[in-house]
Amino acid sequence: MYYQKHYNMRTSTKILLGSLFVAYLAVKWTAPSFNAESLRGARVLVTGASTGIGEQMAYHYASFGAQIVITARREKVLQQVAEKCLSLGAERALYIAADMSNESDPDKVIDFALEKLGGLDYVVLNHIGPSPFSMWEGDVEHTRWLMKVNFFSYIQMAWKAMASLEQNQGSLVIVSSLLGKMPSPFVAPYTSTKFALNGFFGALHHELAMKKSNVSISICTLGLIDTESAMEKVRGVTKVPAYPASDAALNIIMTGATRQQELFYPWFTRGVALSEDWFPSLTNYIIQNSYNYSP
Ligand code: NDP
Repeated sequence: MYYQKHYNMRTSTKILLGSLFVAYLAVKWTAPSFNAESLRGARVLVTGASTGIGEQMAYHYASFGAQIVITARREKVLQQVAEKCLSLGAERALYIAADMSNESDPDKVIDFALEKLGGLDYVVLNHIGPSPFSMWEGDVEHTRWLMKVNFFSYIQMAWKAMASLEQNQGSLVIVSSLLGKMPSPFVAPYTSTKFALNGFFGALHHELAMKKSNVSISICTLGLIDTESAMEKVRGVTKVPAYPASDAALNIIMTGATRQQELFYPWFTRGVALSEDWFPSLTNYIIQNSYNYSP
């Protein structure tokens, strides 16, 4: 009896694993393949491109021969990034300083890109405002400000660029986070802005599909990436592994270029996001015990 039950369990585990493997292969084989040539001359806007993942995206687009406009607040740094883009092979590399907490700056950036490039094929929204890594102590004003930078400016820019993207069968790429699917401690305001992005652009994705729009939306869910600003926050606090910004940037670009609805990077973030729904208590336990914290 015991052996029979054991045998059945082993068989069903094998079937489950086999099915998962077949499903994985099916997804891999049916995924559209990336053609770097498709980005030659493409007109691209990347926000938050003075540093981190945005800067790395600018360099990749440049080496694929794209025409790019980059933006962030620090003009001097943008100038240096733009110069490097030209040396890497960008057809054009322009920059505009803008503060996304300012209500008119999101429109200003899109107007600049449309005027200088004569249209847009890719709008990659990636910037985030600085936010503390600490327990929330009631600072509503900061959360309101962060919403402006990390969320409202995104929807403002997406809307302003929509007509041009529609005309050019373009793509909107939203850089989000695993923390936009799974709430985590110490980052309540940041997590809220990423949940807002996922909700809004998930809904917009449906609407565009229902309207048979030419525009694709890709929402990119990232795990921990080794940018300076992220590492500064988590150093000594967590042992979660960080993945390279340049590789994350390339994966985001490929997802946009192949018009895929979503990216999970690194790959296991998809499973981590699912674990929240499947095993909530275990997931909560792991999250709460993965930080060095004592009250
Ligand atoms: P960084 O902090 O390295 O870069 C943020 C960028 O945004 C900079 O270019 C900064 O430039 C710009 N920025 C900051 N404030 C403003 C503002 N008010 N107006 C306009 N631009 C501003 O971020 P990362 O590269 O680490 O992250 C990039 C994206 O990836 C973000 O959307 C983030 O949520 C996501 N992500 C990152 C993870 C990570 O571990 N690094 C994990 C999951 C998601 P400047 O100071 O010149 O304005």
